[in-house]
Formats: sequence, structure tokens, C-alpha cells
Amino acid sequence: MRYSITQDYISQGNARPGTAIDPVQFIVAHDTGNAGSTAYGNRNYFNNTQPSASAHTFIDDRVILEIIPLTEKAFHVRYNVPVDNSRYGANANDAAIGVELCWGGAINFEEAYNRYVWYHAYLMDRYGFNPREKIVGHSTLDPARRTDPENALNRYGISFQQFIDDVEAMLASEFGEGAREGEETLTRVSPERPVVRGVMTTRPIIQRGASGDFVRDIQRDLIRAGFSLPAFGADGDFGGETERAVLRFQRTYGLQVDGIVGPETLAKLKEVTNTPSRMQEFPLPTGVVRPGTRGDNVRQIQRALSQIGERSGAIDGIYGPQTTSAVRAFQSRFSALARDGIYGPNTKRYLEMELEDM
Ligand SMILES: [Zn+2]
Repeated sequence: MRYSITQDYISQGNARPGTAIDPVQFIVAHDTGNAGSTAYGNRNYFNNTQPSASAHTFIDDRVILEIIPLTEKAFHVRYNVPVDNSRYGANANDAAIGVELCWGGAINFEEAYNRYVWYHAYLMDRYGFNPREKIVGHSTLDPARRTDPENALNRYGISFQQFIDDVEAMLASEFGEGAREGEETLTRVSPERPVVRGVMTTRPIIQRGASGDFVRDIQRDLIRAGFSLPAFGADGDFGGETERAVLRFQRTYGLQVDGIVGPETLAKLKEVTNTPSRMQEFPLPTGVVRPGTRGDNVRQIQRALSQIGERSGAIDGIYGPQTTSAVRAFQSRFSALARDGIYGPNTKRYLEMELEDM
């Protein structure tokens, strides 16, 4: 095999819920949207901050890094988009592997792109997929909100179609009839054992000009911490307004005032906002809440439902027929949820994800 794959899984949490993906039906091609962030930088970010978003594999110019087992779900596409359902009959998060291309900064694009192409070919071979049918760009699934992976590819003169052509050629040359039989390609890194990585000591550095899910998470945390973004909100683009908020935040908490979100600023943001309990505006009750219940717990469920567009009627704290049918309507959006109209931990998790995505 031309490249090896490193499996260094993040711990279980919001970013890695541990639920099974069965079977894998297609692949979603992404880029990180964050120039210069490396595969291990991303792994560290997801492992440490555990946002309710993730992808399986991050690829830079040095490593093909699986941070979530391919047999488990990752949350890399918004649930409430229709193209994945119409094209594949399933939500991407329930049926697809998410692969992220790292680019920009010190990353050698040619090396990263070759690994990205090879890994997609590897997945096509592993699952018996045709690249023309089974690889879809995030931008195709969520055109209103996402531009990846074209965002990265186009910078280097590569169209999505060219990428698919390259995967097809790689599949034929590396995995087709007559291709050499592979040796062991997997490097497993034990999560218990600290590993010294030398040059791989990468850090997530997020600054003006960056965009994507990381930026959106940071913006939400800034807002939550009291540093408002009145003009643009949490739009996923790190512009002047976000930079000024970061500067104010850094000044307030005695950090180096440089407008760059590095590990220290991230850690402080996390501490201040008390993430990962990220939905402080809508703290949802734990446990099971049944129809017929009354009280503040019910009120919080009703607020969350109305916030995401399900009509639960008045915010009256009464879990009556209207709230029950709103819960059921919400549950029916997701194949993984029972449509029983009863609020429980699974419904809570999906509600939180929808709220986070707003
Ligand atoms: Zn994406």
C-alpha cells in the first residue's frame, strides 16, 4: 500500500457518541475550512473540546488519521438537509463516513491531496463503492451553508470532478486487478499510552480569515461568554467582528492579546463557558419526561421545541397533547429515534444537536 492509516481515536463524548453506523452507505468529502490546521491539531481539538460535531478521518501532508472508528457515527453533516436522504435514503451522520482534507498554512497541498485521493480510493475498495456514486461533497449536501471540499480544492486548481477522476484512477492503479497485495497498513495508537510525536506537536490556531465549524463553535462560546457578535453572529467566518471579540476576551482574562485563538484562549473559553454543556440557553432536563408531566422541565422542552420550529403550543409547562405531538414530530425527523412522543436521553441529544446547529 502506498500510505498507512493511523488509528488514534478520541475518547467518547459529544464528538464521539459511540453509536454504530451500519452499514456504511456513502462517503462525504470535506475540508476543514481552517487553513493550516493539521490532522493532529484537529484530533486534539475534538478530543479536548468535544463539540457535537466531528468527522472520522483527517488527512494532512503527513498522516491519514482516523479519530473515530469507521464503524461508529460521526456528526459531520447537518441532519436537517434533504439531499442525503433523497440521494441515499439516509442521513449522512447515520450512514456516511466523513473525510476531512487539511490544507493551507505549512501543509504541503500536493502531499495532503495525494493522501486524500488515496484514502477515498481505499474506502471505495473496502466498501465496494463506485466513486462516481458514493462520494459526495459536503457542499452538495448542504449548499446553503457549506462550500467544502471545493473551498480547498479550487484554491489549488482542482475541481470536484477532477478529484473524483483522480480517485477512480488511484482505485484502478492501487487497488485494481494486478495491483500489489498490501502489507499491514494500519498503525494503531493506544489511547492510554502518551506518544511523543516530535514534529507532530500541532496546535489548532484559529485566526482572522478562518472559517468553518470550529469558528462557529468559538463564536458561540464568545457569545455565551458575554462577548457579543451583533452584526454577524455565529456565522462561521472569522472576520473583524470576531477578532475584536477575541481581543476583548483575551484582555478580560489576562491572556496574550493577539486576536488568535490558540490552545490557551480555547482552554479559557471552555472554562468560562463551561463547555461542553453548551446549551446553557436551553438546559434540557436529563432522564425521561412523560406526557402528563408539569413543571419547569416541561417548559424547557417546550422552549427548545419552539426554538427549532416544532409547534408545542404555549410555553405553559404542561406536557399535553400539543407538546406530545411536537415531540413526536421532532422524533420523526430521525430514524434513530422512537416516535413515542416521550422525551428521553436520545431525544435530548438530538434536540441539543439541532439547537447547536442554529
Ligand atoms: Zn464539511
